[in-house]
Amino acid sequence: VSALPPAPAEARLVVQTGATALTAALFATAFAYGAVLAGLIVAATSTGADPSERFIYLVPIVFAGVAIGSNVWAWRARASDVFLSEAGLRLEGGRWSGRAWTWAEVDVDRTRLVTDFNASVTTNGHRTYRRAFVLGLTNGEEVELASSFDDAEHASLEALLVAVQARLAPAPVAAPVEGLLGCGSCGAPVAPQPAETSPCWSCGAAVPTPAALADKVRAAQRVAAGRGAAEARIRSWLEQPPAAAVNRWLAAVFMVRYGLPLLLCLGSGQWAAILLGAWTIGRVCWLTIIDRFAYRSLSLDWAARPAAAPGAPPRCRACAAPIAPRAGDVIARCAACDADNVLGVDLARAEAEVQVARVDIEQFIAAQAERRGWPRVQVGLGALATAVAFVWGALA
Ligand SMILES: [Zn+2]
Ligand SMILES: [Zn+2]
Repeated sequence: VSALPPAPAEARLVVQTGATALTAALFATAFAYGAVLAGLIVAATSTGADPSERFIYLVPIVFAGVAIGSNVWAWRARASDVFLSEAGLRLEGGRWSGRAWTWAEVDVDRTRLVTDFNASVTTNGHRTYRRAFVLGLTNGEEVELASSFDDAEHASLEALLVAVQARLAPAPVAAPVEGLLGCGSCGAPVAPQPAETSPCWSCGAAVPTPAALADKVRAAQRVAAGRGAAEARIRSWLEQPPAAAVNRWLAAVFMVRYGLPLLLCLGSGQWAAILLGAWTIGRVCWLTIIDRFAYRSLSLDWAARPAAAPGAPPRCRACAAPIAPRAGDVIARCAACDADNVLGVDLARAEAEVQVARVDIEQFIAAQAERRGWPRVQVGLGALATAVAFVWGALA
């Protein structure tokens, strides 16, 4: 029996990436400075003689209102993760950071997604509504764990709902897929090995492996052997720091932006280095958020289905066939349908909700690399420009 990667004690789901918070931070600081500027202009130009001028006073007030609203929005949208385990669920980051509930405390029938059609955001002609994940508790309380206007974050909330429902009302064990290897003695679906026989995980019987299937497993393992770089990439995404790390960067973005006037006054000789450094911090924050998108996609679109029973092999996300990964691998290609699967992120997702279209994980890695490419260059250039500006400022 091949050694399977150990199942994680906790499954982690990215609920809020922090991308919304970073956008809100831009609005918040821009409107805060706009309010101050508008206030100064109004104070300088208004004579107070003409009553029609009073409308002018509204401009800085409106700016200040939008700034306050954007700050609240950013605070609510800060990054958060949910961790699911045998015991229950807990949150890290966001409004409920540090809170945990056992499964016995959760009322699955009242746990749901709530869409608020009175709250909407329109970007580029696309309207989205505020959706919230409401956790119902057996003591009658209801807790809004997270909310978002963002389509992608809505998908995370849906996945969380499915995962919670699956924990509390487990789906019946799926029947073995037609035409796949099944144990002759006990009927369990067996992960095919590249050998004459494949051992049954359930009863230990040696199940003869059809030659064509053994060849496919051999081909899948050859692919796996040449995937060191992809394995390392996926591993680094799976091991990335939790939501709190992103929230620290978000906090740094806020502090630097609001502190700019003070920083520029204190270090006026280094104004160029201060401005470039502030911009670079924003880009670093964005880069950490992009990696959270990667993690979320791995857990939502690429994760193998969990084993149907303790000790059973994980199953292909696309076709549910048992897969036989090599010891320690985090990606495994399904011998039955050629879909790549990521192991070690067990969300107990619904059987129906599977991304079949994406087969080759190298495409995903390439797309993510492309997504990171330009922000990475920006961070590098920003850091370099900050250093050059600092030296220039010190010499001048
Ligand atoms: Zn068996
Ligand atoms: Zn498959």
